[in-house]
Amino acid sequence: MLHADADRALPSSGIALQPELPLCQTDLPLDWYQAEFKPYAEEYLALPDRKPGTVLPWLDGYVQPALDHFGNSLLLLAHYYMGGEIVKLVERYGGGIADSYALALQAVRHPEKKVIVESAVHFMAESIAILANDDQAVWITNPKAGCTMEMLAKDYMVLPVAEQLIERYGDELVCVAYMNTSGRLKALAGRTGGAVCTSSNATQVVDWARRDGKKVLFVPDQHLGRNTAAKLGMADERVVCLPDPQVTRGAFPIDDRVVPGGLAALDASEMILWGSFCGVHTVFTPQHVDWWHAHGWQVHVHPESPREVVERADGSGSTAYLWKLVMEAPRGAKLAIGTEGHFVRNAREQAALRGVEVMHLADVPDPAFGTAGCGCATMSRNDPPHLAGMLDLLRKGTPPAANRVLAGDSVDERSGALDRLDEAERRELVADAKRALEAMIEVVESA
Ligand code: SF4
Repeated sequence: MLHADADRALPSSGIALQPELPLCQTDLPLDWYQAEFKPYAEEYLALPDRKPGTVLPWLDGYVQPALDHFGNSLLLLAHYYMGGEIVKLVERYGGGIADSYALALQAVRHPEKKVIVESAVHFMAESIAILANDDQAVWITNPKAGCTMEMLAKDYMVLPVAEQLIERYGDELVCVAYMNTSGRLKALAGRTGGAVCTSSNATQVVDWARRDGKKVLFVPDQHLGRNTAAKLGMADERVVCLPDPQVTRGAFPIDDRVVPGGLAALDASEMILWGSFCGVHTVFTPQHVDWWHAHGWQVHVHPESPREVVERADGSGSTAYLWKLVMEAPRGAKLAIGTEGHFVRNAREQAALRGVEVMHLADVPDPAFGTAGCGCATMSRNDPPHLAGMLDLLRKGTPPAANRVLAGDSVDERSGALDRLDEAERRELVADAKRALEAMIEVVESA
């Protein structure tokens, strides 16, 4: 790993980082690689170590010829949550690192880029594809890199439930789809006159969606939904969370038996939340916040965290908010950050250069807690062999079709099976999903 100093003790607090992140970017077993990627994985695993002096020359052997071949038409992208290794590699080769909103805009902002290669989760690549021009192709280095929050809100789970709600409430119901959804759900938002939102603009977008007393179906994250409802002053009893999708595992009937509080609560609600969540952001507890506060640290968290954590923290906001906060903190500041582990590790490295201490909220150095900050494991399925293989196969003109990302694609994260829409269905989906994305942009820009 490139984080040679990851387990070094902080000078002033004496608090040591966990030497390794649980669920961090580790070498995936070979059976996680598609057949086309196995030769690259075998070479990578045979390298004597993972030090930059070893990995970079190996990677250069594949990346440099691809850069020479595609020139300025190639764009490499990664999300902040990728392990530091991939983030640094993408930066080394002139690529961009961003949050999901900024990633989504990359194709539109760079029409000269025709081959866009993303190391992040699938919905992020699909959002780029939805907004891309016809002559821009989007590729993901590992199509099985899904988002677990999105995996609990697949179209076959949500759409039949949404149909029942539309039947019951008609035009009164409007869907707001968090960026962490497939294009199929973004299209649902567009079809119902709703919008996409991000964690930085969810409050604005939901407030807009409630216009004329409309009822909001918020998908997929129950915690962002609940935090947003609280910010907008909605009473708890006017917010209904649908059943846990880990239990239902598919569509379910909207009736008194299944809906918490029954149909009366649903009819009286202002906001209906899909029950998904992010495992990385739900490890946090109010006790974590209290511990850091008691030791003189400020706490800031991502709003995918539970409401009681967000309300206890000194601030909450998107990935971009947290990054800016760390980068602008004055020397001597001590910040415990509640979000994805690789992001905190990257932020910690940058902050240390400016005399700012950063810790992961769950890394409480007290054995009574027994918790540790974790990384987004599925995002980390994009590793150096996938990046090397993707670029090499693209250069040779033999990229696997499964790595191409088209709007409306649905990938089974376990088997890799791909369900791809036909051209007419895709065009319809793009029109609806674009409408939802454009509604968000309009709401934000007109504020
Ligand atoms: S951190 Fe959570 S919400 Fe973000 S991509 Fe990973 S699983 Fe999805």
